[in-house]
Amino acid sequence: MDLDFDREHIWHPYSSLIDPPPVYPVERAEGVRFYLEDGRGLIDGMSSWWCALHGYNVPELNRAAREQMEKMSHVMFGGLTHEPAIELGRRLVEITPGPLQRVFLADSGSVSVEVAIKMALQFWQSQGKGDKTRLLALRNGYHGDTFGAMATCDPVTGMHHLFASHLTPHLFAPAPQAKFDQACAEEDIAGMRRLVEENHHQLAAVILEPIVQGAGGMRFYSPEYLQRVRDLCDEYDLLLIADEIATGFGRSGKLFACEHAGISPDILTLGKALTGGTMTLAATLCTDRVADGICRGEAGVFMHGPTFMGNPLACAVSNASIDLLLSGPWKERVDGIERQLREELAPLADREAVADVRCLGAIGVVEMKQPVDMKRVQEELIARGVWLRPFGRLVYAMPPYIISPDELGQLTSAMVEVLGGPA
Ligand SMILES: *Cc1c(COP(=O)(O)O)cnc(C)c1O
Repeated sequence: MDLDFDREHIWHPYSSLIDPPPVYPVERAEGVRFYLEDGRGLIDGMSSWWCALHGYNVPELNRAAREQMEKMSHVMFGGLTHEPAIELGRRLVEITPGPLQRVFLADSGSVSVEVAIKMALQFWQSQGKGDKTRLLALRNGYHGDTFGAMATCDPVTGMHHLFASHLTPHLFAPAPQAKFDQACAEEDIAGMRRLVEENHHQLAAVILEPIVQGAGGMRFYSPEYLQRVRDLCDEYDLLLIADEIATGFGRSGKLFACEHAGISPDILTLGKALTGGTMTLAATLCTDRVADGICRGEAGVFMHGPTFMGNPLACAVSNASIDLLLSGPWKERVDGIERQLREELAPLADREAVADVRCLGAIGVVEMKQPVDMKRVQEELIARGVWLRPFGRLVYAMPPYIISPDELGQLTSAMVEVLGGPA
């Protein structure tokens, strides 16, 4: 592969073209591994950023794509509809919390967040409350890279100052402190409560990642916190937007992370694993109340409609991915991964360089005391046949659910060896 061309001409996520980071040439992928050009197979501990639940080159997904491709890869969704979209809508309505009945199919996670925000704004306009335009988000949150989504990300890690002129100034509550297995004290929610009390007249919605704050810090928080936020939204009549783009489809040990708290949001975003990691597709679901409000408003329609909306190929693969997930023992697998991650990463907790080790579902996080030297750590992991992508002080694994105990053992030993330092 012409890596020189790549270095000269092609942007990678969050990368420099003056001082390009190393990139490794991948030729193919199969099961939990992808294979570099030189033939080395690496266990993908990242599921390609939360996506590849079933691993790679999955016969069921390939078949769905092939069969759909021979019928049609794409038709416009304006004025037309098709079986793959209808079937995906049916599945999403069925498997997400009951009140979420209306489905918007979007092109990527960030776009589904834009759609969620526009839904909230159009809803309040239709209620004669056009002043309700601001959002309340959490510190350490991450919701995507487009402007609307970016404005709801943590202002510091999201480097809001770079784009300040284009970002809506939203409100940010302190990140939840109560951990996943802890009760949530009233003071944990006090910061958010105060912001709601003082600003509810201009607030359209609270937006958060339920239970797992992903790219903004890999933090797991108390389901009680989420319940209290839901109560607060009900008390002050705010919409709750749950961003399950990372957590959806079982990653946290429940099919959707909201289930840990037994709550339902008014608007839900899904993406990443929606197609089992094969191609880009996302969805925004909302309640009847939100949809009815939007459609009774001034525009009379929801004002969004991307070119590739409801792409049949992506919908067909999604349907196959959801069926494959739900027809298999995903829950047992994720629980098994959680147990093994806990056990095998535990030795790191006592090491000098390590600040914290935490696991939930098929997610294992090692937080270091100092920022990780990504290049060095990545090289050492690759030498052990493992692919992870650390950021900041965090090194984390979220493998495909099909990973075997042996393969997961290889992944965790590599983490322990590379991160542990002297025992
Ligand atoms: C990845 C992610 C997004 C953005 O999705 P893209 O497909 O990258 O646009 C939004 N919210 C959360 C929680 C995510 O993890």
